[in-house]
Amino acid sequence: MTKDVLITITCPVCKKEFMKKAKDLKDGTVINCPGCGEKTTIRGTMFTDMAEGIDKGAGHA
Ligand SMILES: [Zn+2]
Repeated sequence: MTKDVLITITCPVCKKEFMKKAKDLKDGTVINCPGCGEKTTIRGTMFTDMAEGIDKGAGHA
């Protein structure tokens, strides 16, 4: 059983912080701020890489 890695996202508009699963944050994923509805597009694979790294026991992120 793999445990989910949660990433804290800070909205650039309203500064609200919310959690997303790292493995869901693939390159090109659009996330909506639950506070103001601002759309943020994930660029790059740093979050999914982080999730995979932790799955493999690679240590600190
Ligand atoms: Zn917001």
